[in-house]
Amino acid sequence: MGTVRRRDGQSFRLSTVHCRLFVSGDAMRRVAVLGATGSIGTSGLDVIAAHAGKLQAVAITTHRRWQELAQQAQLHRPRWAVISDETVSAQIDRTAFPSETELLIGPAAVEQVACHADVDTVLCGIVGAAGLRSAWAAAECGKRIGLANKETLVVAGPLIMQLAARTGAELIPVDSEHSAVFQALQAGRRQDVRRIILTASGGPFRGWSESQLENVTIAQALEHPTWNMGPKITIDSATMMNKALEIIEARWLFGLETDQIGVVIHPQSVIHSLVEFTDGSVMAQLSPPDMRLPIQFALTYPERWPGVNPPMDWQAIHRLEMFPPDLEAFPALQLGFEVARRGGSAGAVLNAANETAVQRFLDGTLTFTQISRACREVLSAHDFLSQPTLSELLRLDRWARQEMERWTA
Ligand code: NAD
Ligand code: MG
Repeated sequence: MGTVRRRDGQSFRLSTVHCRLFVSGDAMRRVAVLGATGSIGTSGLDVIAAHAGKLQAVAITTHRRWQELAQQAQLHRPRWAVISDETVSAQIDRTAFPSETELLIGPAAVEQVACHADVDTVLCGIVGAAGLRSAWAAAECGKRIGLANKETLVVAGPLIMQLAARTGAELIPVDSEHSAVFQALQAGRRQDVRRIILTASGGPFRGWSESQLENVTIAQALEHPTWNMGPKITIDSATMMNKALEIIEARWLFGLETDQIGVVIHPQSVIHSLVEFTDGSVMAQLSPPDMRLPIQFALTYPERWPGVNPPMDWQAIHRLEMFPPDLEAFPALQLGFEVARRGGSAGAVLNAANETAVQRFLDGTLTFTQISRACREVLSAHDFLSQPTLSELLRLDRWARQEMERWTA
């Protein structure tokens, strides 16, 4: 096995056990960054670049932004670069990519890299239900999954949790609230948890009345006060559908009853969520609002490595406020609790209806307040299944999109 000389001058012979420990502690972690050109993806690549030598982006994917992907490939030199939208294939200049990077095109290639034996960790940063199949593939192949794509759990929470339990895949949340809960849970035993409280910034329209919300413009809804994110989640944050999706995400990820999940408005986005134990003790996780921390934690857990973002300045004055949410003005939140309670096919239908409604709002064919109203109507119209299979969920996803396309007030 060979001999190793330690810093103190002593040498010792390596056994097989030593070698394994060496490898698992020091080996390069090979990451597939799915949705590399998005907000989560670029933050993920920042984290990887900051820990070059310990983390490596072996695969990067985009839907159609091949020029940005080529720039990322020049910097990170991945083994694979994937463009999932085949319709842009003719426009791609292959010479823009490094010669050692293999270019793969089409949606199946995303699943292929997510499952490849030379990938240890999959960062799921694709937006919407479009991220489900690759997260599923990573779970099937027993990978460490840094899950930013909350829609996977909203659509198919119980199925993906069962799959991960079967294959040994590790689902580590990247969503900041769920990462906070995951971190705070380390303080006690699972059976001693009374409930969790998800924090919400309240978005750009915190404190607005129902009638004020009738006239929200697209530009206003795209301005988030504390987080810089992709357009879909930014609109979801404005309607508070994001928090609705996060209630459902938490229900399945942590195996909680819906009554054990609460929401508070916390405008500063510094307390990322709270866990309350049965004795009344509450654990919170605090950090500046920067997704690079939860992304890094998902990649390095259970280790903690030096952070990319500057730490909190505790000498500065901080106001940390909390308010109850306004369920009248933001009916999406109510939908989140209802859908979490109902389970079955409700999450898939709500998610697909919302994705299409957000697109219609951005296209100017739905108003802001119609998003939640239309989602409720599509949800009520669907044939509920209590124990759906994955293919039934995908069928209902398509159905809900069609219903939302033709929805009128
Ligand atoms: P984004 O719009 O900035 O990026 C989305 C990425 O997905 C892009 O790389 C895009 O090319 C790719 N993509 C889009 N459609 C695709 C398709 N059909 N097939 C394959 N790839 C596709 O989105 P984002 O803000 O980075 O969010 C990504 C996910 O992370 C979402 O599920 C979101 O809810 C979650 N999330 C984001 C943040 C954040 O700060 N941005 C925080 C928490 C959770
Ligand atoms: Mg979140």
